[in-house]
Amino acid sequence: MNTGIRKYSLTGCPVCGSADFAAEIESQDFESGTGSYRVDCCRLCGMRFTNPRPAADSLYDFYRARESADYVRPNRLTEPLRALAIRRWVSKVTAHCGPCESVLDYGCGDGFFSMQLARFAGFRNISAVDLHDHAPVYLQDQDAVRYHSFEQLKREKDRYQLIFCRHVIEHVPDPTSVPAVLDNLLAPDGTLVVEVPNYHSLWRKLFGRYYFGLYLPRHLLHFDEHTLRYLFRNYRQVKLYRNHTPILGQSLGYVVGRAIGNLGLVGLCLFPLQVLVDRIARSSSVLSLVLRKQKR
Ligand SMILES: [Zn+2]
Repeated sequence: MNTGIRKYSLTGCPVCGSADFAAEIESQDFESGTGSYRVDCCRLCGMRFTNPRPAADSLYDFYRARESADYVRPNRLTEPLRALAIRRWVSKVTAHCGPCESVLDYGCGDGFFSMQLARFAGFRNISAVDLHDHAPVYLQDQDAVRYHSFEQLKREKDRYQLIFCRHVIEHVPDPTSVPAVLDNLLAPDGTLVVEVPNYHSLWRKLFGRYYFGLYLPRHLLHFDEHTLRYLFRNYRQVKLYRNHTPILGQSLGYVVGRAIGNLGLVGLCLFPLQVLVDRIARSSSVLSLVLRKQKR
């Protein structure tokens, strides 16, 4: 991609607007070499955000070719493990839901997760949405999942009984707009499951500026439990889960300056160690918040 992207500096917190913030970490774009960035922390609401950030007209460049770590390359060796992890995660976070006649994967990435949803007996009418006009590789030549662009989705309202929004809000320039957009798409009493990287992960403290979860500058926001709950404060908050996703491969790759994937052989072999250490330290790499639409 073009490494000479345009950037601008924020003068206020993207969540509460406060100009009272301070730098916490200085790091860089290890993925595509677009330069240095800080993680700033708002003293008023606690939100952490990337500063400077790419200008709005440069943001899509990071995702256009679907070549970043957000889009896992098809790999027949690791797909069964990925599918198993998704099945276990979905069973856990939807334990409070009844049958779901309409399900949306909001920000579907490579589409692998959406395809796994289609295998759940209780889920029907699966839709997936993302930035691109055309479907990602896993959602081509199949009819189990309907793919929309965000533009097409704007015409729908009160439609989905269950929405997954996984690893999306941290990429969005205006995070305060997302809860309202999802509320508009949810059916009355619908369930929303949001997942984000956990800034307070033990691994962020160990790897510091090399921690993959910072993922600068694609991650514009860096959540912890408090800021995630605050952003979705207008929903009924059912349960927060501390979950695990592989981050050691790429974090080590940043340290040694080599491309090591989280879902490659090295990354996956290190995953049991990551989970074990997290369990002992009561830490987690991701936070999953289950929410219910408020009755009006
Ligand atoms: Zn703030």
